[in-house]
Amino acid sequence: MAPVGTEAIILRKIDFRETSVILDLLSMKLGKIRGVLKGVRKPKSRVAPLAFHPGSYIFVFVYPRSRGGLMLLHAPQLVQAFPMAGAKRSAIWQLMLRLVNLFLPEQEKCQEVVRALLESGQMMMGKVSPEVVYVWFKMKMVRLLGYGLELNRCLLCRRQGKLGFISGRLGGVLCDRCLPRDRRAVRISRAVLGVMRYLERTPAERLEVIKKIPAEILEKTNFFLNLVLQYHAEAGYIWWQDERNIFAGSN
Ligand SMILES: [Zn+2]
Repeated sequence: MAPVGTEAIILRKIDFRETSVILDLLSMKLGKIRGVLKGVRKPKSRVAPLAFHPGSYIFVFVYPRSRGGLMLLHAPQLVQAFPMAGAKRSAIWQLMLRLVNLFLPEQEKCQEVVRALLESGQMMMGKVSPEVVYVWFKMKMVRLLGYGLELNRCLLCRRQGKLGFISGRLGGVLCDRCLPRDRRAVRISRAVLGVMRYLERTPAERLEVIKKIPAEILEKTNFFLNLVLQYHAEAGYIWWQDERNIFAGSN
């Protein structure tokens, strides 16, 4: 079958056999896919290491799988690398890639997630606080996956006042009156709700102007987004544990 040429972000790389790698890609044309790239770990390989490095944006040819085997990747070329200054930015960028890999359904075409990830990588290389970009991206992803997120009206009665709770299951806020209808909804403060609404309407390129969001508010925001994601997660492990350190000591 004819190959498909597509741009893609590399979400994960796994060494495979003697000289090959398996790549998880978020591609423009085929959605999230897994494929094998052969022979690139040989000293004489002509493929540049950055062209199969996690976080790189590449152009690659994809050969559809034959009889249940892995897809075959061929001749990747680097379109853009996202070198992060410092261990923290680097770690948060890797967390973003993992988040996408974990939550995006296989082969679901989601070009908007690709774009949001590219914008986030771009912002992460600048001066913006990486925690802000992380939470911004996660909020965007929750919405693009169709998991919510209603922040302005009660999800059940559509009232706009007294929105004191957030429901992970329903994907948004509840008013005091409707609270009994989701016993697992948790209290959300006006300050945190305010920051969530603000991040939601701020485009990536405007994140730079954000002066300071207190770390505890950002952490709470992240927690509420995790409540929504967790409701949809099939992962049987604590996928958010690596996030623990990213809000500590931030300013
Ligand atoms: Zn209500």
